[in-house]
Amino acid sequence: MSQETLFTKIINREIPADIVYEDELSLAFKDINPQAPFHVLIIPKKPIATINDIALDDRELVGHLYYVAKQLATEHGFSDEGYRVVMNCNENAGQTVFHIHLHMLAGKMLGWPPY
Ligand code: IMP
Repeated sequence: MSQETLFTKIINREIPADIVYEDELSLAFKDINPQAPFHVLIIPKKPIATINDIALDDRELVGHLYYVAKQLATEHGFSDEGYRVVMNCNENAGQTVFHIHLHMLAGKMLGWPPY
C-alpha cells in the first residue's frame, strides 16, 4: 500500500518544512510538534505506508534512514550524550502519517518506557 500523504507534499515542496538534510533517497525535516529540543523526521522519498509495507527490496533504503540519523547525530553533536530513533506502526503505536518516518529525538534526557 502506498499513497500520497502530506510528506509527499513536503518532498515536492508543495508545503513548507524546515528541512535539515536531503539526498537522493531521503529527506529529514523538523517535526511540527517537537517532543524534544531536537526532533526531526527522517523519511524515504519513496512512499511506504507502514513498516508492514516494507518490501524485501526496501531493506537498504530503510537502513539508509538509520545512517542519516547517525550522520545528523554527528553533525549536531548528539553522538556521545545519546538520542532516540523510533518508528511507529499503525494505531496502537500512534502512527498518524502513513508514510514511514523515523523520529529522531535528542537534546534532553528521554524517558523509557515510552508510555
Ligand atoms: P507519527 O505519529 O509517528 O505518525 O508521527 C507523525 C509526526 O508528524 C508527528 O510527530 C507530527 O507532529 C508530525 N507532523 C505532522 N505534520 C507535519 C508537518 O507538516 N511538518 C512536520 N511534521 C509534521
